[in-house]
Amino acid sequence: MHLIHGIYRFKPQCIGTRRDFCNACLHETHTEQIRAFWVWHFFFIPLVPLWWRAEWQCTSCGADPRARYRSSPSFWKVIAGVSSLIFIVPTIVEWESPVSPDGAVLNWVLRFALPLAACFLLYFAFVRKTKSVDLLNEERRQRVIPLETDHCLYCESLLNSQPYVYCPHCRIRVYGTYEETSDKVPGTGRLDL
Ligand SMILES: [Zn+2]
Ligand SMILES: [Zn+2]
Repeated sequence: MHLIHGIYRFKPQCIGTRRDFCNACLHETHTEQIRAFWVWHFFFIPLVPLWWRAEWQCTSCGADPRARYRSSPSFWKVIAGVSSLIFIVPTIVEWESPVSPDGAVLNWVLRFALPLAACFLLYFAFVRKTKSVDLLNEERRQRVIPLETDHCLYCESLLNSQPYVYCPHCRIRVYGTYEETSDKVPGTGRLDL
């Protein structure tokens, strides 16, 4: 039986914003920190309150911009190494068995194509250096130009800069791309200002 469970997010509210690189849609994008009261549900019945939590969302695709969405190169290297065996064994068989008069062309094509495919996979598995996805995304993130504005993006009020940049009207904080952010936020409905 398929168990239906998940999270309800009550009273979602934007409390932060920043420019970031989204690992999901692979674009430089505008992201928002959404605070909500999380409740775990089981078959749509809210059961366990998980309290107030905040998460970052990409405004283009809705995903968490810093989560990992692609398998690491080492995973694909293992797959390539194991897959090369699929070609090595038939290569040995092809070269050990006599060429049949009816399918001579096919036999000779396979005798060279199979080891070529195996060599390509072995090269990918053991020789080729592939940059980690995380490193690649981090390099892209370093090129993101942080938000530099004097006015709120949402209400156009003049931003306060002390103790950090925020809108006094919407209470939304403007973060630099690498500024520390906290996922644990007070449940008062307001930021600590
Ligand atoms: Zn995105
Ligand atoms: Zn505002």
